[in-house]
Amino acid sequence: MKILNSKQVANLEIENARILAVDDEERQLLSVQNLLLSKGLQVETALGGINGIKTLEQNSFDLVLLDLNMPEMDGHAVMDEMARLHIDTAVIVVSGESTFSAVSKALRRGAYDYIRKPYDPDELMNTVSNCLQQVMLEQAHQSMQTRLQKSEELHRYIVNSSPDVVFMLDKQGRFTFLNKKVETLLGYTRQELIGQNYEAIVESEDRDRASYIFTEQGNKREGAWSSELRLCVKKEEHSARHFELTFFPIERKIKQNGHESMQVVGTYGTARDITERKEAEEFINFQAYHDLLTRLPNRSLFKDRLNISLAQARRYDHKVAVMFLDLDRFKVVNDSLGHAMGDRLLQQVALRLESVIRKCDTLSRFGGDEFTLLLPNISCADDARTIAKKVISILKEPFHLGEHEAFVGVSVGISMFPEAGENVDQLIQNADVAMYHVKSRGKDGYQFFSDAMNVVDTNRLSLERDIRNALENNEFKVFYQLQVSAETNNVIGVEALVRWDHPTRGLVYPAEFLPLAEETRLITDISNWVFETACREVKTWIETDHPDIRLSVNFSPLQVEHPRFVERVLTTLRDAEFPANNLEIELTENVIMNDLQQMTKKLHLLAEHGIRIAIDDFGTGYSSLNYLHKLPIHTLKVDQSFVKDIETTHDDACIVDAIVSMAHGLKLNIIAEGVENQAQLDYLRSLGCQEIQGFFFGRAQPGYEVRNRLDRQRPILQSQAAS
Ligand code: C2E
Ligand code: MG
Ligand code: MG
Repeated sequence: MKILNSKQVANLEIENARILAVDDEERQLLSVQNLLLSKGLQVETALGGINGIKTLEQNSFDLVLLDLNMPEMDGHAVMDEMARLHIDTAVIVVSGESTFSAVSKALRRGAYDYIRKPYDPDELMNTVSNCLQQVMLEQAHQSMQTRLQKSEELHRYIVNSSPDVVFMLDKQGRFTFLNKKVETLLGYTRQELIGQNYEAIVESEDRDRASYIFTEQGNKREGAWSSELRLCVKKEEHSARHFELTFFPIERKIKQNGHESMQVVGTYGTARDITERKEAEEFINFQAYHDLLTRLPNRSLFKDRLNISLAQARRYDHKVAVMFLDLDRFKVVNDSLGHAMGDRLLQQVALRLESVIRKCDTLSRFGGDEFTLLLPNISCADDARTIAKKVISILKEPFHLGEHEAFVGVSVGISMFPEAGENVDQLIQNADVAMYHVKSRGKDGYQFFSDAMNVVDTNRLSLERDIRNALENNEFKVFYQLQVSAETNNVIGVEALVRWDHPTRGLVYPAEFLPLAEETRLITDISNWVFETACREVKTWIETDHPDIRLSVNFSPLQVEHPRFVERVLTTLRDAEFPANNLEIELTENVIMNDLQQMTKKLHLLAEHGIRIAIDDFGTGYSSLNYLHKLPIHTLKVDQSFVKDIETTHDDACIVDAIVSMAHGLKLNIIAEGVENQAQLDYLRSLGCQEIQGFFFGRAQPGYEVRNRLDRQRPILQSQAAS
């Protein structure tokens, strides 16, 4: 296809041009019309200046042939009127008037040319055709101009309505152009950014990378390149959004010494806001490596960090400590106050723990009520000891859960690298082993792992299997601890405590297996067995010479919560022919509070049969004391933790004071547990505490030893009876 230049286009269009001839002589008009029509042009005529203006107002023309001398309205007046009406049709003056002033006046008003009447037809045709060509060229130019403007507007519109920031940078990386989007996305005006280096709006942490990307990548000049950067939002300090920036080089042809080459003169690019996508990715990532309840790292992230710490510790020859934390009494809170409160407790625990560790340490929720703590760079075991003590002391404080106050403790096992293990799994497992040793020694403390600790101890699966076997093989034994009168030192009662006579490990204490037995519900079988066995054995003492001896038996929450609990206790007593008046059952406060309504019924039934009820570990559970006067309770057993520090801490002495005087007020019997020395005994006596239990009078021992002790006591009883 042949493409015409603008001049050719103008030639083509002359034929379509519309011409108006204005004259006050009709003859003159006709002659001009005939001449132009004969040349194939379109002509209209108007008689006189006023008609001329009217016609021009109604139709558009490309050229006016205008007479100057006309009555009413002459040619100059017509041109003035045209100017006033913004009719910019080209004018050729055709007139008999030929004075210089008339001609120059007409030309000054913008006439294209001047032809004298009578005219030479060729001259007229030439002038008309030149003028039309000029007009057509101007029109073509004008329409091109308009089209260009339209197209630029279109591009501007596309650029500005782009969802991305579109920008241009000079060779130094300074903004030379930005679309409007930058204002809505980042809050800067375009004016304030033009001339600034683009790094000025990049987040400080990403700035080095931004500079590298711009210079290094730009120098390669291999088409487009992209990168993810955070850009700062104006005014909102520290707030940045994620963008994907794509850069394209702007190249220009340069001619130098006759050689043409392409040279980069700048960069243009787009910045796409990918914050939402990033946040979604981050959340998924967070979820994969964190516990959503406490927002702490989870097991996988913990192991990962431990792995990195071990690699560094090996290289720089330093120590690493891994702690395994298991909450004590969490299950009680969770079971009694419900899962929502349990969750709140875990969150509060996490916050407290975070407050005692350093930034470089990793605290993770390992699962359930287990947490692990990584101290990646410590100089000696003492550092770990310090942290462990802080952890224990901060979790000792009461937790406020709505209107409840809960007390939990924590058992902490510590394994040190390299002594306690070479790799991640060994260290965690050994910290866990050490933690179980703490639990088995009465909870709420810490211990370092040592090789002497038996790994088998803590292998729960095998432990569970072993407990089942132990029940079948009669490996459990009942031991008895004496409960002695503070006044006379005589034995008043015995508490039955279970022991596991393990075929290879020797005597195993309840703390080592009762928690798991409770979890697996084997506790009911064990406890029932203890109850039956103790009843049968102690009955023989009652029947022979010791009619008043009292038997205390511990009951686990699971047993007590059973709907037929009372029936079972009574059946056991009947089967063993054990006098109900000689039995005291020990329950913890938490068991009672669990379902106060049911418990009230059950305890009243038991009490009606003459069975005594003791609150074990009194002072460590619920702080509400309301239940004490509503329930048939006979004895409070002051927890050994209060007795332990009697000589040293004034506070604890006060608690014992308070408990004893409260018990007096409520007319309850009181037994102080865990009495280990004379000083404690003296103090408790001075308070008027009636009964004492503790190592000071002996550990729990097999039945025959107790029987011997009782028999030795008999003369005293007899002499008392005689007096
Ligand atoms: P408990 O009922 O509070 O029993 C007292 C615990 O304190 C016993 O630990 C006893 O050996 C220990 N103890 C006594 N005097 C002292 C002392 O002077 N100093 C120190 N440091 N400790 C002393 P044991 O036998 O290890 O029992 C631990 C817990 O296991 C018991 O706490 C009880 O809650 C539970 N338990 C024991 N036997 C049974 C059972 O047959 N059934 C149920 N359900 N629980 C049992
Ligand atoms: Mg007890
Ligand atoms: Mg106790």
